[in-house]
Amino acid sequence: MADKIKVCTKCRLHENRKNAVPGEGKKDSKIMLIGEAPGKNEDLEGRPFVGRAGELLEELLESVDLERDEVFITNVVKCRPPNNRDPRKDEIKTCNPYLQKQISLIEPEVIVTLGNHATETLVGNRGMKKIHGKRFEYEGFKLIPMYHPAAGLYNPGLKETMKEDMRKLVENL
Ligand code: URA
Repeated sequence: MADKIKVCTKCRLHENRKNAVPGEGKKDSKIMLIGEAPGKNEDLEGRPFVGRAGELLEELLESVDLERDEVFITNVVKCRPPNNRDPRKDEIKTCNPYLQKQISLIEPEVIVTLGNHATETLVGNRGMKKIHGKRFEYEGFKLIPMYHPAAGLYNPGLKETMKEDMRKLVENL
């Protein structure tokens, strides 16, 4: 799967990428985290969440005694949108079969969608304020939406809420 993603040219996002970012982590993880799209650092390294948002994500995982390598981390789109713009609907749609395949290979106990884009892609737009930390079902998988780590960087007041949501995630394993 990762090999295919690395050479994918199905949408315009391949044109400006340095590296596609398929995702990484434990292949049979109980937890699958899905973010939005690679940013600058991720594009350079070919790995998800390696910048400041990644640091916060690791802090949140550690708050419930989880290590980064115990989970699987990926994004809704696997290539960086120019200037970190939002991924477009057609790009998300074109990339979606890769995400679907990853979900079916990993078969996690819980899927965590980080932020609006991932949440909208899998369970529709319902407003993060209302639904973060709540449990949904997606094609037979438990799914818990959470704020995107970048939201916690922008608004540190959210960090406690994000840690609480991590505790709810662990309770659902
Ligand atoms: N933000 C994301 O949504 N994904 C990454 O991989 C990095 C930052």
